[in-house]
Amino acid sequence: MPDQYRATFDSGEFEAARAPDAAKTDDEGERYESAARDYVQFVNPHLGELLERVALDKCFVGAEGHVLIDAEGERYLDAVSGYGAVPFGHNPDWVWQAVRDFEQRREPCMVQPSLLPGAGELAEALVRRGPPGMRHVTFGSSGTEAVEAAIKACRLATGRLGVLSTENGFHGKTLAALSATGRPFFQEGCGAPAAGFRFVPYGDADALDEALREHGHETAAFIVEPIQGEGGVVEPPAGYLGLARRICDRHGVLLIVDEIQTGLGRTGALFACQSEGITPDALTLAKALGGGLLPVSACLLSASAWTPEFASKHSSTFGGNALAMRVALRVVERLASEEHGVIENVVRQGSYLKRGLRALQREHGSVIREVRGRGLMLGVELGVDPSFMARGVGTFMTRLGEHLAAFAASYLLNVCGLRVAPTLAGGNVLRVQPPLTVTRDECDWIIRAFQQLARTIGAGRSDEFVAHLVAPKGSKRPRTEAVRGGQSTRTEDAAEGEGRFAFIVHLLDLRSMAECDRSLAGLSSSELGELAHRFEDSAKPFHASSVRIQSTSGQTARGDFIILPKTTTQLLRMSPDEALEDVASAVRLGKERGARIVGLGGYTSVVAQNIRALLKIGVPLTTGNSYTVVSAVEAAVEAARTTGRSMEHYRAAIVGGAGSIGSALASLIAERVASVVLVGREGDSAAMRKRYAVILARMVRHLARRRAQGVRFAPGSLADELSRLQCGEELSQSEGRLRLTESAEQRVLAQTSELPVRFTVDLPAAVAQADIVFLATSSPDPLIQPDMVRPGTVVCDLSRPANVSDDLFQRGDVLVIDGGIVAVPGRPDLGFRFGLAPGLAYACMAETMMLALEHRYEHTSLGRDLQEESLDSFRDLAGKHGFRLAELRARQRPIDLRAWRSRTAA
Ligand code: PLP
Repeated sequence: MPDQYRATFDSGEFEAARAPDAAKTDDEGERYESAARDYVQFVNPHLGELLERVALDKCFVGAEGHVLIDAEGERYLDAVSGYGAVPFGHNPDWVWQAVRDFEQRREPCMVQPSLLPGAGELAEALVRRGPPGMRHVTFGSSGTEAVEAAIKACRLATGRLGVLSTENGFHGKTLAALSATGRPFFQEGCGAPAAGFRFVPYGDADALDEALREHGHETAAFIVEPIQGEGGVVEPPAGYLGLARRICDRHGVLLIVDEIQTGLGRTGALFACQSEGITPDALTLAKALGGGLLPVSACLLSASAWTPEFASKHSSTFGGNALAMRVALRVVERLASEEHGVIENVVRQGSYLKRGLRALQREHGSVIREVRGRGLMLGVELGVDPSFMARGVGTFMTRLGEHLAAFAASYLLNVCGLRVAPTLAGGNVLRVQPPLTVTRDECDWIIRAFQQLARTIGAGRSDEFVAHLVAPKGSKRPRTEAVRGGQSTRTEDAAEGEGRFAFIVHLLDLRSMAECDRSLAGLSSSELGELAHRFEDSAKPFHASSVRIQSTSGQTARGDFIILPKTTTQLLRMSPDEALEDVASAVRLGKERGARIVGLGGYTSVVAQNIRALLKIGVPLTTGNSYTVVSAVEAAVEAARTTGRSMEHYRAAIVGGAGSIGSALASLIAERVASVVLVGREGDSAAMRKRYAVILARMVRHLARRRAQGVRFAPGSLADELSRLQCGEELSQSEGRLRLTESAEQRVLAQTSELPVRFTVDLPAAVAQADIVFLATSSPDPLIQPDMVRPGTVVCDLSRPANVSDDLFQRGDVLVIDGGIVAVPGRPDLGFRFGLAPGLAYACMAETMMLALEHRYEHTSLGRDLQEESLDSFRDLAGKHGFRLAELRARQRPIDLRAWRSRTAA
């Protein structure tokens, strides 16, 4: 290992070493960095943010050979090499010497249209060393300019405008080159592809032949890369270029070979097309030609592609400038010199590196999926073991999707000191393109870095993978216990007659990230927060697990759990449109997987306010709120029984009493308690009064119905009195909302004014006077503090995240229970636990399951006011299918009721 790199490989781990000779003073380093950050803000703030998220926003302040140095003096082996534009490492002395020689000679740099000796010498060198048959050269400054020249030359030579290109190819971003770039993302909105551009699949000679048979008469040229670089280092089948040459000849079409990336030694030959022994009509070069110092490009033309018309119509102010020509000439001479053996080095180190990476592929096939390319133009395709998801380890990495390569590049850079880059459009491919002069030691460095990456990903260690991203600066990396995999959940096809559902959940809080991926359990809350922030843009809904529900009546349903990987706080922070789009894509995923009813869990129904947009997706939806209400009442009854006090003396407070769950709960609980206080949020008092009147009328209507069904209420009880009033029939319902006319509202309030049902916004007072408190809000924060609650109070928390503070939970003399948790018939493993014991589910999930068991594929529990019939029907369906209240639980654990009783008795 050369001393200058000073990375140590002991025990296979890298220790980033501080260079003793940091290239810049602290002040200078800071100035560099701040100017670099300013630039990214000018040119593309979004890119700046993306780079920052994945910690690829390094500012290099120095470079020595193959190594880059950042402001802190850390050194990184550069295997990006300016996307091929840095062929001999950074700042090679002999390139600078060419500049110094030029300075000394005082040769004029830009004197067009006078004669240009430098350009003449370079053109001669290129034609002499290029494929036989190249006759003419025109110079420019960038690769895309060379492609433009090639296309124009071929069009003028043939009198045709058509250009055939390859899908997934890359030829630059000015308009003709962009039109030939087979990636719609770059073209859309820019007027590309321009008229006349067509595409055929890359590597498919038959498709080329067929396209030219049909369109050859209107096609000037076929443009192709010997290896697709930006497309993900894709090699065509052997012999493809030779066949392309013959097919083009057969149809009288010119052939442009774009060697901007492959040319000048990169693939182990001076020109990649030489390995198939062909001569194109146009050959484009750029990148390496400038020796890593100057922007310069060239378009070489055969006699068939060159015309005097082209020569007179094409030029460029900087094309042929003498400084660039002198440097490029040295580059070509260097590459061609046997003494320096650059190309031989490419062949030797390239095959060593490829062998090493391929050996890793054999060992870690789930991570290193493929190693492709030739010479020192290599691509490593990455993947993640798909079974991680079901095993609950490494899940984070499986969810990165197409962003895996960026995160892997970040790991390699920050942990292993190796700089590699994803390709522009090549999925999860990392390009490995060290300088052509790379050494054996450096190849070992690259192989070891990939080995460490593969071990980390292969072991499902999301924590290790992201440690550098989330740890506070200067702190030690966290380590967790060895990760053990759990049982995988198999996805089977639904049997005939089975119901089908999907249920959408999101991450409740940062801790639930570790529940999805146990390898993250060792990260602190702030580290998880950092990770959530960095992952935010990449987080798309995914299928997490599948389950088959068998009702006690024998019916079955199969369902998928779809995770929307955003925390409650993230969801609430998003704009309504963004949140809706995320929820909609989760619903679509459920539908695509075969769901006939989709349940919207947690905040997904809260943030998707524009429910109409979701309805358009064309699959019935439910919030699961009806059965949540039913099961909350059951839990309250059970809790009251436990406390040994009769519920009919209870004063109930419902926090969130104006909402969908709270208001329905008011009707049901009024059957059993002495008084009800609805606690709402502060707001416009006229609207609050309206809402209160609607909820009262609804309670009256519900209790009157129950009486009509033969239910007997104790004389003088709240239920008895409400059920005798005559104001429930005045309610009308539209679009899931109950309404009263103004006069009906007056009558309702007048009739109920003497009764103990109140509406308030004074939460502390209401809670202080209650014997039982229901929490059913969409607030993500703790609302109930310990000093608000009297000893002996029952608190039933339906809100997720919980509305009960940790301190209250610790108080031994208050019974806090999780509402809305039920046991699923047969207690199946849902694959994901959602913080629950096996076989338990939230009531909203259970509602979705019941709808599927019943094949009741209709919108349910949507809108602000749940339908009475729905509430009734889920009580019955739960009995029919065997869903029942889970034992009383708090913070997802069974409550030790004996201990509780002895505490409260004392
Ligand atoms: N053609 C190929 C094959 C390339 O790889 C590239 C750049 O990556 C170009 C053309 C465009 O070159 P430039 O970015 O210098 O315009």
